Amino acid sequence: MIQTVRGTRDLLPEDMPLWHRVEEVAREAFRRYGFREIRTPIFEKTELFARGVGESTDIVHKEMYTFVDRARADSEGESLTLRPENTASVVRAYLQHKMFADKSPGELTRLYYIGPMFRRERPQAGRYRQFYQIGVEVMGSSDDPAIEAEVIEMLSWLLQELKITNTTLLINSVGEPASRASYVETLREALKAQLDKLCADCHHRYETNPLRVFDCKVASCQAVIADLPTITDSLDDASRAHFEQFKAHLDARGLAYTVNPRMVRGLDYYTRTAFEIVGHDGLGAQNTLIGGGRYDGLSETLGGPPTKGFGFAFGLDRMVMALPEAEAQRLRANDAPDVFLVFLGDAARQHTFQVARDLRAAGVSVALEFEDRKMKKAMTAAAKSRARYALIIGDNEVSSGQYGLKNLATGEQESLSLGDIIAKFK
Ligand code: ATP
Ligand code: MG
Repeated sequence: MIQTVRGTRDLLPEDMPLWHRVEEVAREAFRRYGFREIRTPIFEKTELFARGVGESTDIVHKEMYTFVDRARADSEGESLTLRPENTASVVRAYLQHKMFADKSPGELTRLYYIGPMFRRERPQAGRYRQFYQIGVEVMGSSDDPAIEAEVIEMLSWLLQELKITNTTLLINSVGEPASRASYVETLREALKAQLDKLCADCHHRYETNPLRVFDCKVASCQAVIADLPTITDSLDDASRAHFEQFKAHLDARGLAYTVNPRMVRGLDYYTRTAFEIVGHDGLGAQNTLIGGGRYDGLSETLGGPPTKGFGFAFGLDRMVMALPEAEAQRLRANDAPDVFLVFLGDAARQHTFQVARDLRAAGVSVALEFEDRKMKKAMTAAAKSRARYALIIGDNEVSSGQYGLKNLATGEQESLSLGDIIAKFK
């Protein structure tokens, strides 16, 4: 039997109400905060991610699904990649469609996306090779830290609405590329003395991009990381002032945070503000729900005009895992049909089709099976359907127009006309 590819999975109907809920709350948050949806292709030119995300990142270095497209008569096949993240694509679209044109000073473009991403990572609970992200990007000429605080305020609403209460907001400033350069050398010096304690990946990171060592999840590397000099002492004045303002905006909104000077995100494009929201329940080791930050300069890297940007992405898979059990149960129960139709005999069967049509036309969710069954078997099927009510239709009901509506949770039954039943479900 053919099975799913390692690291990928089917999302089954019993879990979809949870996914729909997260998507629905996210869309509502985005509507309230003025974000509009964008959908970009699942695959792009490899160069977009190589330049945008950065050659030295784990993502580009070892996690991308890259393939050479079939050659055409006039050209060699080009290198394409399944998107590992969506910020580079959204910035590409922003540039390609000249969304920066005709803007008044300070005018912002607020975009959001929902969709699958692909990374060839080691599969674990909460870590998949096809996973789903919901994210936003705010782009324009302004880099006001109020933007950052407002986006985090929106996330705080979203988490509250999903009843995910036990979370921590971690923030840091990773400075400007220029101020980072001297820090990277300091870091490399510090790492040099500890090389024998670092994993093979960190050896590579030491060579190509020492900052990435902070991302390492290997326990023995974590011990080294705890003693490394942090970027905080090397921050340029402008980045320092920006970070102070950002914190003041969070304070003004009553948003609690923890400064973590060792949190540097795994993508090269971040400048200044970086943040994560970590969950503590139901997530296990993969507990980072949301990651984001500022990426001024990404547009320029991709050949566009100077543009400021700020955004985040959260893992939909992990957000679903973080939903409290009571909330998950409520969502699954709400997904059940309103009513299961039970008919007894052939005349009632024909009549049932009409009843089903009328109920459905009135917006009622109807479960119905076509097999003629005895009462007991039919009621078993009704229970299995998880419907809240069973509607019983026999010859007497057909002639009187009064139907038995049975509450399957309490066992109570009442006799009602179709109009009354529709009114009840409204
Ligand atoms: P992590 O540190 O967990 O690897 P990351 O820094 O690679 O995360 P980002 O690239 O910033 O994460 O993506 C943002 C969010 O997307 C993560 O916080 C997580 O919720 C989710 N995510 C990232 N990679 C995966 C994956 N392989 N499977 C499931 N969710 C993922
Ligand atoms: Mg990762």
